[in-house]
Amino acid sequence: MNVDRLMSDLEKKHQGEVEYLQAVREVVESIEEAYNDNPQYISANIIDRLVEPDRVFTFKVPWVDDEGNVHVNIGWRVQYNNAIGPYKGGIRFHPSVNLSSLKFLGFEQIFKNSLTTLPMGGGKGGSDFNPKGRSANEMMRFCHSFMLELWKHLGPETDVPAGDIGVGAREVGFMYGMYKKLAGEHTGVFTGKGLNWGGSLIRPEATGFGTVYFAKEMLATRGETLEGKTVAVSGFGNVSWGAVRKATELGAKVVTLSGPDGYIYDPEGISGKKIDYMLELRASNQDIVKPFSYEFEGIEFHEGKRPWERKVDIALPCAIQNELNAEDAKNLTDNGCICVSEGANMPCTPEAVEIFQKAGLLYGPGKAANAGGVATSGLEMTQNSMKLAWSREEVDTKLHDIMCNIHAQCVKHGTRDDGYIDYVKGANVAGFIKVANAMLDMGVL
Ligand code: NDP
Repeated sequence: MNVDRLMSDLEKKHQGEVEYLQAVREVVESIEEAYNDNPQYISANIIDRLVEPDRVFTFKVPWVDDEGNVHVNIGWRVQYNNAIGPYKGGIRFHPSVNLSSLKFLGFEQIFKNSLTTLPMGGGKGGSDFNPKGRSANEMMRFCHSFMLELWKHLGPETDVPAGDIGVGAREVGFMYGMYKKLAGEHTGVFTGKGLNWGGSLIRPEATGFGTVYFAKEMLATRGETLEGKTVAVSGFGNVSWGAVRKATELGAKVVTLSGPDGYIYDPEGISGKKIDYMLELRASNQDIVKPFSYEFEGIEFHEGKRPWERKVDIALPCAIQNELNAEDAKNLTDNGCICVSEGANMPCTPEAVEIFQKAGLLYGPGKAANAGGVATSGLEMTQNSMKLAWSREEVDTKLHDIMCNIHAQCVKHGTRDDGYIDYVKGANVAGFIKVANAMLDMGVL
């Protein structure tokens, strides 16, 4: 594999697909050596077969708002690679969604799912629909319309979606309900389901919990713990909520949350009722974090700013892609931050990652650090096929073990001669080898 040649071919073929090209470059640069060391990968041309999705479905989603106006959005499902299991990956409703962002997320998902050691392939879907300010009835009509088209491409052994940005338990309920009606069967074709109809305990908090477990493992390599550490979290959605809960439980103090409007700073630490309020605010479908500063005394709101300007020991970016740039990375590093664990997918720009790694920070990329969400989705699928439900403790223990195992794989494949652990390389190489070997076993498909 020649990375420059591969990337220049892809840039010509997929012009303007910025996020997709960024994600592919990050992976191929770090697996280049492992790839070129194995003549079988080269002769089977694994890389050209891996960077293109198996297929992409595009469809229109017409829906009626509460005033009777008719709208049309676009829906997509990217089925990327199913070498090791059914396509698996969330559904995102956000105005920034386009083919490029879903291809980036689907591509990342292949390696993330492989790292969990569970049998899941990679996929992603979504729509450019904006949930902000939409009523529950509008959400229901949109989700039903979205599923009227998508359902025919799904199945418990074919393609199993889940939530993502803008899609929580309520939206999964609307989509799964429509799937069940059309398919005429109650199979676990979605994960992130409600507890009464096949969902798993711990799934809502799993991504954030896993991100903190991963940080805990990284810190342990330097004899450190979360106890007494100050933490900056971004976002105020599902992943941020889980991360704040677990970080607080393990003795850290979380001092920030953020939204597209700015960030809040709480010198006392976000705990107790403030964590519950995150759920309320997220459910209100507003796109602002500012209300925190009216609701609780002593919380400052910083309009148009990002939390990375604060002096913290640990940063957990949990909002959206490319939300932490080189300037932010420099601020964090200069202020003595020692660890960055990504709850979101690709929240740090490539320049930011370079700064972290050059400064010797512990840096855990999303495909490893946020794999706890999909891992627990895998556990939900297992419980659905066995037709039983595990206890909270059982699921949490399995999640914790999976995160420790992912960390160990990163250490195995990413430790440099000087002892620094390159978690990007470790995660990419470990995730890639399993998928590539499965593809070799099955021949050219
Ligand atoms: P949510 O929709 O629950 O939360 C996203 C949060 O980010 C919201 O609080 C949102 O605010 C905020 N946000 C959006 N844009 C910005 C911005 N520019 N600056 C600051 N905050 C912003 O989604 P999730 O928590 O589920 O997902 C968050 C990230 O985690 C995504 O990258 C997702 O792909 C990733 N992830 C999620 C998993 C899951 O299980 N849910 C699994 C693995 C990864 P607002 O609502 O106001 O837009």
